[in-house]
Amino acid sequence: MPEPVAASPASPGQVLREVFGYGAFRGPQQEIVEHVVAGGSALVLMPTGGGKSLCYQIPALCRAGTAVVISPLIALMQDQVEGLRQAGVRAAALHSGCSPEETANTWRLLRAGQLDLVYLSPERLLAGDTLERLAALPLALFAIDEAHCVSQWGHDFRPEYLQLSVLAQRFPAVPRLALTATADPRTRDEILARLQLEQGRVFLASFDRPNIRYLLRDKDDVRRQLLELLADHRGASGIVYARSRNRVDGFCRDLQAAGYDAVAYHAGLDGAVRSAALERFRRDSGVVVVATIAFGMGIDKPDVRFVAHVDLPKSLEAYYQETGRAGRDGLPALAWMVHGGGDVPQLRRFIDDSDAEQQQKRVEHGKLDALIGFTEASGCRRQVLLSHFGETLPEPCGNCDLCLEPDTAVDATESVRKALSAVYRTGSRFGAAHLVDVLLGADTARIRELGHQQLGVYGIGKELDRGQWRSLFRQLVAQGLLQADSERYGALGFGEDGRLKPLLRGETQLLLRLPPAKRERRRQPGVS
Ligand code: ADP
Ligand code: ZN
Repeated sequence: MPEPVAASPASPGQVLREVFGYGAFRGPQQEIVEHVVAGGSALVLMPTGGGKSLCYQIPALCRAGTAVVISPLIALMQDQVEGLRQAGVRAAALHSGCSPEETANTWRLLRAGQLDLVYLSPERLLAGDTLERLAALPLALFAIDEAHCVSQWGHDFRPEYLQLSVLAQRFPAVPRLALTATADPRTRDEILARLQLEQGRVFLASFDRPNIRYLLRDKDDVRRQLLELLADHRGASGIVYARSRNRVDGFCRDLQAAGYDAVAYHAGLDGAVRSAALERFRRDSGVVVVATIAFGMGIDKPDVRFVAHVDLPKSLEAYYQETGRAGRDGLPALAWMVHGGGDVPQLRRFIDDSDAEQQQKRVEHGKLDALIGFTEASGCRRQVLLSHFGETLPEPCGNCDLCLEPDTAVDATESVRKALSAVYRTGSRFGAAHLVDVLLGADTARIRELGHQQLGVYGIGKELDRGQWRSLFRQLVAQGLLQADSERYGALGFGEDGRLKPLLRGETQLLLRLPPAKRERRRQPGVS
């Protein structure tokens, strides 16, 4: 076994070079490490693969005492402990998979001050007398990995994470570092509040993945579209995400029949079959995995050249995570997705028919709206995607379908002005459905009751059909010109966007992509 790293204080740069063998910090790592070494708490938002682990592993070695790392997945804990031990760091894990002997041994090492890091599942941390036993030890810090699990708005809620607020109360003097790759402002606020990190700093690394090209296509004949995509990527490693096991099996057979080295991956397959698929994908190049979202956690293959979605992902966060598996090596990679058809109504129905509580259903609908804002975006996909994570990309990216094929957008300024007037004239108190009724001059009980047929905006929007108006409103929300109030059933109000006034005054243009108009289906006499 290599010589254990001495507990004597070493500088962060020394630890980076001598223990981990890296030449330089990446992104905000150095600032984070120094902040924690000095005893500060923080929330770190960094994309997957950005290098979150070093943010707590280096302070663990620079500060006296043991660092406690809370992590939700046993497999990931084991990987980390294994990697650390190979680097000569004294690390261990405590979780339900440990034998009583292993557990007793780890506690013995902890009491003897012979562990730099200990990884714990949240269940284990909160069970029995673990907290009392930890309180008796000198602790370097707490790291809370996958901190978005504390958020109900996030995509991976775990109730036991809520109880981690106990750390702030029981260990006020120990720095706490929460880490996540989910950075939308709402999840961020929830993490700060629930883990009582309001006093700490927030470090936000850029979520942009400039080498990934985003290409979205209208759904037509998915099977043919996918085969065309693959034909451009013969011999490349890639992932195809589909919604259901049946669809995974079907697409996988199609690809195999067309001569591709395709393997299926979903939770319905035998564990051994799944590991074999994963192993082949990792080891060989040119393997295409057709998978449900069960495929992903802990995949760190650098040369995935494309990620294709033949069905809509669950949310924009999920889309970002799934497409983020492409191009880890920094070389050009493709995120490709088909959308449209009956996708959205079907997803809406899934949500409505689920057993979730009303509040949760509203959250899910809100996530779907954000996703649709992306699929129906008109400016630049990357700008919409990053703005969802609270980041502003000042210029269009030049590497997405909308930047590369801009001709599909139309000048919608006039309609946008009508939409904004409708919001204003009705007092910013109504959701898109009612506003569209007003613009189309619909005769509904609600309109009559409110007297909205008297308004100047009533019936002025007949140039667009209902679907186009809905799309227009979603895009205005996606662009931040309008804001949906989730407390008030999606009532639309004005955002704080500098473009609003010039737009209303007719001084600037707004280009949007609108779905094709649906012709009214009328029965025509004489035609059978
Ligand atoms: P995350 O937890 O944010 O997904 P990891 O901590 O697993 O990311 O790091 C991703 C990869 O980047 C790992 O292989 C890690 O060794 C590497 N890495 C992290 N920081 C650096 C650095 N400063 N220099 C070089 N490689 C780094
Ligand atoms: Zn772009």
